[in-house]
Amino acid sequence: MRALISIDYTYDFVAEDGKLTTGKAGQAIHDAVFEITKTFTESGDFVAYMIDNHDPNDSYHPEMKLFPPHNVQGTSGRRLYGKLQEYYDKTKNQENVYWHDKRHYSAFSGTDLDIRLREREIHELILIGVCTDICVLHTAVDAYNLGYQLVIPKDCVASFDQVGHEWALHHFESTLGAKIV
Ligand code: ZN
Repeated sequence: MRALISIDYTYDFVAEDGKLTTGKAGQAIHDAVFEITKTFTESGDFVAYMIDNHDPNDSYHPEMKLFPPHNVQGTSGRRLYGKLQEYYDKTKNQENVYWHDKRHYSAFSGTDLDIRLREREIHELILIGVCTDICVLHTAVDAYNLGYQLVIPKDCVASFDQVGHEWALHHFESTLGAKIV
């Protein structure tokens, strides 16, 4: 069994005026992200949207010192980018579609994603979204340590740092045993 893990493909991370945007690189993967999301959603595979949610008053959060405020709770910056939000709204009541707010880079940090996957006997994760070398990377490392097999469609991940993006793709394959497709 497999699942699509969709990471942070939101307005703030992708739109031209997003607060922490991957810009053109993030926008370039829109169609591929949309198509794979549609395919998995329609085939009944588990689709998990794992989305950053930050409290602007959370002074203990380490990202406060590292990045400008982004994906702030209650703002439109947290809406999925492009055609994705409308599609999510249309499909969110399906049993195989799941949304979880996350506070850290990894989709496994402080969430119940691992148990949701185990309940469904899912062993293979397809990771998509942004940024390749931050949230996708940290999710991939946790998934590896939890024993999941990884597939990364390279036309469905992006970063604002092209060197980091390339490095992460290499790391997924050479160190985490991921299939890059
Ligand atoms: Zn964040």
